[in-house]
Amino acid sequence: MSHLVDRFGRRVNYVRLSVTDRCDFRCVYCMAEDMTFLPRQKVLTLEEISQLARAFHQLGVDKIRLTGGEPLVRRDIVDLVADIGQLGLRDFAMTTNGNQLANLAEPLRRAGLKRLNISLDSLDPGRFRAITRTGELHRVLEGIDAARAAGFAGIKLNAVIMKGRNDDEVAALVAFARRKQVDISFIEEMPLGQITEHDRSESFCSSEEVRGLIRQHHELLPSTAQSGGPARYYRMPDSAIKVGFISPHSHNFCGDCNRVRVTVEGRLLLCLGNEHAVDLRHVLRAHPTQPERLRQALIQAMDLKPERHHFTPDGAVQILRFMNMTGG
Ligand code: SAM
Ligand code: SF4
Repeated sequence: MSHLVDRFGRRVNYVRLSVTDRCDFRCVYCMAEDMTFLPRQKVLTLEEISQLARAFHQLGVDKIRLTGGEPLVRRDIVDLVADIGQLGLRDFAMTTNGNQLANLAEPLRRAGLKRLNISLDSLDPGRFRAITRTGELHRVLEGIDAARAAGFAGIKLNAVIMKGRNDDEVAALVAFARRKQVDISFIEEMPLGQITEHDRSESFCSSEEVRGLIRQHHELLPSTAQSGGPARYYRMPDSAIKVGFISPHSHNFCGDCNRVRVTVEGRLLLCLGNEHAVDLRHVLRAHPTQPERLRQALIQAMDLKPERHHFTPDGAVQILRFMNMTGG
């Protein structure tokens, strides 16, 4: 079987598929308040997304994460999960804002989804609303409980920490994760997409600072745990949960990068921090009955994967894509 290997000998076995650019929230770090979304014909159909997942799987990919935008606003998302679930991937996960999980956690689990990442930046309803612009905290909290009841193999919370906004909630978020017995990762804000709502250089809060805030309450022991993603993990002596840090600024995780992304338009992105892309939608639509053409395009695309990204913490926008287009 062929595998996906780039020019630097890195084997790609993890794919993040964006299933929609739309979302029911408008988080301040992710989107502008007034967004224009893609017309339907530009968006991959569920069948095309399934075809892509199959092609990647045949080329040795054993981990797929569905993301967006918000995956749960896509109609028939449960059917897509069931389709991809049949591939028997080693790991099959979704990143969601949790807003619709109260209804969908159980069907998703039954359709074969194994793990969930749920975004949660604040435990204060007013702040939660301010950060997400439209979200209601209680719905996400109910969604987290529904996910726990549904029996997923893993649940992790994701929090983007911004100075002056939610950095004073780091300890409370860790306490919440401990109480719910779910892992939690803290993410450094990345300069993706032009936003005017806040100045990213002022709000930037490094993983090192977040660790300092946690250490005021808990001992953090470096862990060797690997999620197959970019997070570095720590443990606390008196809890089973892991605390992760995703630090694109302060920890360049490119050396062992094993992943690529596909946008909902079918653009294969070889690196989150670069503009290199391959138009897979064109391949899919030009050769709908020739899966080998798609596999060939994927193998060739590996030559374009750049060695590393070049984010700087000064808030400068290096990538004009918004995160909802990229798939977080
Ligand atoms: N809507 C889903 C959600 O919010 O979990 C999935 C898509 S979202 C783009 C994926 C993750 O990216 C979320 O955890 C979100 O907090 C994070 N994110 C979005 N914009 C970001 C940015 N500029 N910097 C860092 N993380 C960001
Ligand atoms: Fe939507 Fe997720 Fe972006 Fe928030 S981070 S606006 S929930 S896509």
